[in-house]
Amino acid sequence: MINETSVQLGSVRSVIRELFEYGKKRKAQIGEDNVFDFSLGNPSVAPPEEVNKALISILQEEDEVKVHGYTSAQGDFSVRKAVSDYINKNFGANISPDLIYMTCGAAASLCITLNALLCEGDEVITVAPFFPEYRVFVEHARGKLVPVMGEEGSFQPDLDAIKRAITPSTKAILLNSPNNPSGIVYTEDKIKGLCKILQECKENGQTIYLISDEPYRELTYGGVKVPYIMNYYAESLVCYSFSKSLSLPGERIGYIAVSPRMSEAAKVYAAICGAGRALGYVCAPSLFQMMVKKVIGKTSDVSVYERNRDTLVSALTSYGYEVVRPDGAFYLFVKTLEENSDAFAERAKKYELLLVSAKSFGVEGYVRISYCVSPEMIEKSLPAFKALAQSYEK
Ligand code: PLP
Repeated sequence: MINETSVQLGSVRSVIRELFEYGKKRKAQIGEDNVFDFSLGNPSVAPPEEVNKALISILQEEDEVKVHGYTSAQGDFSVRKAVSDYINKNFGANISPDLIYMTCGAAASLCITLNALLCEGDEVITVAPFFPEYRVFVEHARGKLVPVMGEEGSFQPDLDAIKRAITPSTKAILLNSPNNPSGIVYTEDKIKGLCKILQECKENGQTIYLISDEPYRELTYGGVKVPYIMNYYAESLVCYSFSKSLSLPGERIGYIAVSPRMSEAAKVYAAICGAGRALGYVCAPSLFQMMVKKVIGKTSDVSVYERNRDTLVSALTSYGYEVVRPDGAFYLFVKTLEENSDAFAERAKKYELLLVSAKSFGVEGYVRISYCVSPEMIEKSLPAFKALAQSYEK
């Protein structure tokens, strides 16, 4: 007998993957350019040139045995030092390399962190809409995911609702800003308000950890800033990934940072090392660790995403759609023209538009558009969006 939960997880594709696979088949039938595939969050701009330059120089100049060898389980010290220096310089967090753990991207950062913190039955609150894998990650770490709906229209955290959702079993709050799927950046006021609630819980004897999942930190538009969680609350951790900022999702590189002000920082870091060990997430890819040391702080050209956002927001609004104007990431949340978002996404397929129904993100009545695609595809897709809107007028 093998583990039934794992069989289930491995047999059922996520809605997003299902749609992506459908897109591949459809493209083979009617041609690549005739399907408007907005399903996946795969960066569409090249990594900054410094990435390849760094990789080439590492391969040409460093000792090849070292380049392809194991590093320390938690990551090479000099790489962790480069990460902590970057965090200290940019966010003033005063963190040491001994609180940084190099990982294979945000998914690994989250799985390690949740396995480090959660005991059987612990609850993790998150704000809906949320990244669907959160449920898988939290449940696999023995916990229970408790989604709390964001505020209607803005999808900012609803602080009163979060307060009501806190129970003696609440172990952590998991935030993702800029958000997948809404593209919303949580405001500093909301972060401060949330941290005040958590501080009150701490003073009443309950420590609730704040986990910030931030693969989209650098993808913001119009100068919008993403508050650095460690500056607002001591019991916080950052789960970071270079997948989107450097357009390297296939290379699997990121890190976990534990706040130096956390009351049991050393113990939590030990638990992170322990969970990493138990999950087999040790020694993140060493070539890419070395690359991080050379290019940290560089970002892909996100102006393309901003242009795509502007084109879509203005065109869709003019066709009568209601959209949640995003300040970050590369996702646009659009109100569906009928209540059932699954039915709307199905109807969109008739116009060759592949949109992800928001049901899988814990919200009804919206679809997600991943606009990390070429500006040409966006332009070409606009008549299809118009025709879809008109089909509801008849
Ligand atoms: N968290 C969020 C909100 C994401 O959108 C993603 C990927 O799309 C991840 C985590 C996983 O990121 P990675 O590819 O770095 O594991």
